[in-house]
Amino acid sequence: MSELIPKSAEIPDSDYVIVGGTGDLALRKIFPALFWRYLAGQITTEFRLIAAARTTMTVEEFAAMLRPFCADAIADEDDGEAQWAGFIALIRIVTLDVVSGEGGVTLAELVNRRLSPERPLIFYLAIAPTLFGAACDTIATHGLAVPQSRLVVEKPLGHDGNSARAINKLLLNVFDETQIYRIDHYLGKETVQNLMALRFANTIFESQWGNHAIDHVQITVAETVGVDGRASYYDKYGALRDMIQNHLLQLVCLVGMEPPAYFNADQVRDEKLRVLRAIQPIAPADVVRGQYQAGKVNGAPVTGYLDELGEASNTETYVALKLKIENWRWAGVPFYVRTGKRLSQRASEIVITFKNRPHDIFTKPGAPAKPDVPNRLTIRLQPQEGLRLQLTSKEPGPGGMRLFPSELNLSFDDTFDQRLPDAYERLLMDVARGNQTLFMRLDEVLAAWDIIDPLIADIKKHALYNYKAGSMGPIQGDSLALSDAHAWIDPHEGDA
Ligand code: NAP
Repeated sequence: MSELIPKSAEIPDSDYVIVGGTGDLALRKIFPALFWRYLAGQITTEFRLIAAARTTMTVEEFAAMLRPFCADAIADEDDGEAQWAGFIALIRIVTLDVVSGEGGVTLAELVNRRLSPERPLIFYLAIAPTLFGAACDTIATHGLAVPQSRLVVEKPLGHDGNSARAINKLLLNVFDETQIYRIDHYLGKETVQNLMALRFANTIFESQWGNHAIDHVQITVAETVGVDGRASYYDKYGALRDMIQNHLLQLVCLVGMEPPAYFNADQVRDEKLRVLRAIQPIAPADVVRGQYQAGKVNGAPVTGYLDELGEASNTETYVALKLKIENWRWAGVPFYVRTGKRLSQRASEIVITFKNRPHDIFTKPGAPAKPDVPNRLTIRLQPQEGLRLQLTSKEPGPGGMRLFPSELNLSFDDTFDQRLPDAYERLLMDVARGNQTLFMRLDEVLAAWDIIDPLIADIKKHALYNYKAGSMGPIQGDSLALSDAHAWIDPHEGDA
């Protein structure tokens, strides 16, 4: 979605302050992404990377904690050790408690040494959302909320529309909307951006993109992992809030949006917002919730959700929905979306199924019709990102016209002889460049809650079905699509 960044694209030298810089998100995602960008030359020696948290530690102690998460990147380079040392030299540790404000003066002194209007000052809040307000206040109190400041926040931004409004109000007390970067890391994925290129840089698809040619759309985000020790956290959210409200609805927007006049942050987000506003209230019959029970995933036995949680729960670990986008382009084209934990495979795919041929010239008049194999475009988001286009071809050889389904297959791994950057790498660099295209604007976040809130408010109306870990969800989820004479298309295992 944002302009493609060649390795050499310039990023202004910045101060990156990771509040919660010693936590899981920072160590697993943020710092490794910054290290890859350092290796690519986008982060120069003029950057400063500041990890702020309550625990006091030295840079050496921090580097030892971080190193396992950067091991692949170090091994990837001939001079990996020297690069690692260069990267670590950019890091500063500040002991900071955003609640008491203790450490704020030290942070301000460090930052003020290089403060200039040309130098972005980025605060990435890798802390619990309950601390966002205190963190913003600490930043403001110490004079660090300046025009060149930017604030990055992660989901969960609330557990419903009202709490999302309340959290965002705290951010907006200190920063204005153009300074706030709400990350949905799905939007940073290479294939998701490629969806935009596919649609808006090629005429063949866009002319077919609508209810005249498309039969239905499916989006599957399947995970094999369970809640992995986070059951009590997850239980407050569930799949509707954790996955549908953000990642899946964002994908629906990218498939469904109109071409913006220009590819810039506000125009892209305006078009996505229009899609969200065109989604009709979801009927109870169009919602299936599930919860996994014990089973086997990839051959290994796993326990059920309730055993992990240790108490009864009505929280869903699986959701399937049928969405109706009532506008000129999409009226009559169902969008089926589903996501779940402990499913049989880890894969995210968008599948666009085109309408059947209006007339079959290959079957003799009066002979029984052969089932149509529709054209189908599959956009594989993970793993093994790529595109597949299902076509009908003639089987080679004499003996009449025998048709069979064949595939054009574009695997990004095989096609591009370079490592595909992690979504966080692109997003972190977009913040430094001041490009908000891939970040959610507040009105988008609230419009997505407007779709999910009624389901949550009436959650008791939506039965919770069990499914076996290692399956593709409850059979009722299958019936959702089957009721329209469609069937879920399971992601191709190990295929691009
Ligand atoms: P975490 O591992 O618990 O880390 C929290 C960090 O915040 C630690 O560095 C902690 O260090 C610091 N912290 C806690 N209280 C603080 C305070 N009063 N002042 C300053 N720093 C404080 O949590 P996490 O998994 O990284 O998640 C952080 C946020 O990102 C959460 O909102 C989470 O929902 C969201 N998120 C996480 C992931 C992920 O993959 N982990 C993915 C998406 C979103 P001290 O205890 O030393 O202060």
